[in-house]
Amino acid sequence: MRRYSSPREVLRQVFGYDAFRGFQEEVVRTVLEGRDALVLMPTGGGKSLCYQIPALLRDGVAVVVSPLIALMQDQVDALEELGVAAAYLNSSLSPEESSAVRSRLRRGELDLLYVAPERLLMSGTLALLDELKISLFAIDEAHCVSIWGHDFRPEYGALSVLRERFPKVPRIALTATADQKTREEIAEKLLIEPKRFIASFDRPNIFYRIVEKTSVREQLAKFIRSEHPGECGVVYCLARRTCEEVADFLVGRGVRALFYHAGLSAEERAARLALFQREDDVVMVATIAFGMGIDKPNVRFVAHVDMPKSIEGYFQETGRAGRDGLPSDAWMAYGLNDVVNQRRFIEQSDADELHKQLATQKLDAMLGLAEACDCRRVRLLAYFGEQSTPCGKCDNCVNPPQLTDATLAAKKLISCIWRIQQKSGTSFGAQHVIDVLQGRETERTRRHFHQELSTWGIGRELTDRQWRAVIRQLIARSVLWVDARNHNVLRLGDAANGVLRGEIKVELRRTLLEAETKTRRRAPEDRPDRDELLAQLSAVSRQIFEALRAWRLETARTLGKPPYVIFADRTLVEIARRKPTSVDDMIGIPGVGRHKIEHYADDIIEIVRAEC
Ligand code: ADP
Ligand code: ZN
Repeated sequence: MRRYSSPREVLRQVFGYDAFRGFQEEVVRTVLEGRDALVLMPTGGGKSLCYQIPALLRDGVAVVVSPLIALMQDQVDALEELGVAAAYLNSSLSPEESSAVRSRLRRGELDLLYVAPERLLMSGTLALLDELKISLFAIDEAHCVSIWGHDFRPEYGALSVLRERFPKVPRIALTATADQKTREEIAEKLLIEPKRFIASFDRPNIFYRIVEKTSVREQLAKFIRSEHPGECGVVYCLARRTCEEVADFLVGRGVRALFYHAGLSAEERAARLALFQREDDVVMVATIAFGMGIDKPNVRFVAHVDMPKSIEGYFQETGRAGRDGLPSDAWMAYGLNDVVNQRRFIEQSDADELHKQLATQKLDAMLGLAEACDCRRVRLLAYFGEQSTPCGKCDNCVNPPQLTDATLAAKKLISCIWRIQQKSGTSFGAQHVIDVLQGRETERTRRHFHQELSTWGIGRELTDRQWRAVIRQLIARSVLWVDARNHNVLRLGDAANGVLRGEIKVELRRTLLEAETKTRRRAPEDRPDRDELLAQLSAVSRQIFEALRAWRLETARTLGKPPYVIFADRTLVEIARRKPTSVDDMIGIPGVGRHKIEHYADDIIEIVRAEC
């Protein structure tokens, strides 16, 4: 087995990168010193290197605990491509395969072992570990230990056994999502006096955009076809049926879309996930059942056609875009119905009052984000306790919404609801209130004599769509609320008086009056878009790039691995730019380590020569 002398050497020789990112190097040093570390980094931040590099520098095998089988396989695939001896133990292996991995462990052949927590905790596995020299324990998705978190897994709690059984082995716990409480729980249950590394949660390469729903499937198809044709993405829907319908619609529009939800058999789900991981142009239309296992680096967009229940959910789901650091989009469409439906779900759930209140608060925060007229990123980060300044990379920063005063409209709406309530002893849903404001007769307005109200027809200056926007805005500001227990009728909230007295001003986006405007996404300065990189290439280089891509796909298919474990897009662009015609030329290209040179340099040089 090859041994290395320093973290930098491993970074260069094995991974082909020349600089550490963020505090990777400090984490590596901490673990090399034998200390415990708690690492919080957003998705795509580069958590894996934090334990993979010490694993190659310390004696023995590093044991990586990971809850997700698909993810383990991907990591092991990628490591093997780098020439690192790695394997996994989980329920997907046959007894023969497991025993082969055990033999390799006993012979000291492995640098990394990935293992599912259930498997690790079996007495046989623990006994096996007792026999081995262990370099470190890495506990991925460590937030699963928290009983407060949204991904609690009981077997994670039992991992505290590692600390007792192997007190001398350093541990590193990693996660991309953990509030203060969860961090404490991780440290307390899994680690001993850990050094803490908390990175910013900002995902600078994600462009956030939230649009008003008009005809959502059309909007979605337009977004995908104009901004991400032939690229990989995820579309989240709340209901299984919506997934199927949206996928169908997209297929009709020439998008390679598949649906995914818990109603599919386990085999079918596995097959679809595998296809998504391996091919580069699949759009997965899914419920949140399509979740943690996705570590595909080049997901170019995450779209929501229904509003998520909370900002945590939104952040986690959108975070699956752009793990490779290249520009990616988070796109969401939402409307008044989202708010109404979500409120109803909360009310109809079996949760107790306290949890219902909590769920309502989370939903309100999400609605606040959707209705925001200022920087989305500032709001997102503030939700996680981080201060920041306007980002310049969200819809509201790029196209600041022009605001018009809608206080008068709000007053009309409030008094209309008030009058209806007085006359009929009860309130009504949004559409009926709008009908009264528009002076539009319906069977219902006649039955309740609502044309006699003084507010009949006083709101004809706005369209229905604009009224819905006013209603949303007022719900977001607690002026109104939706009574989900009573047919979703609109009720006046505590702040209604403030509006009537002129203490609360209501503003509406002017863009609502116009057609949806296209916002241009911009790349972060240091990491240009792949398309921008390509645009800078000469015609010959572009040809080389296409040839390399075809070669990569072919090679990936032969190996049965995803294309990105062979080379990232960015590496291919760089090769196409530099046109290496010898092994020496290949050294120093980012993403090209020693093992890749040994395996692929000949192919690449041949392709470059053929195209030049
Ligand atoms: P995480 O597990 O935090 O979501 P990964 O460990 O999968 O993130 O890393 C995300 C991507 O960034 C991977 O493609 C990885 O190879 C790349 N990466 C990590 N560290 C570096 C670095 N120091 N320089 C360049 N690329 C890096
Ligand atoms: Zn912004």
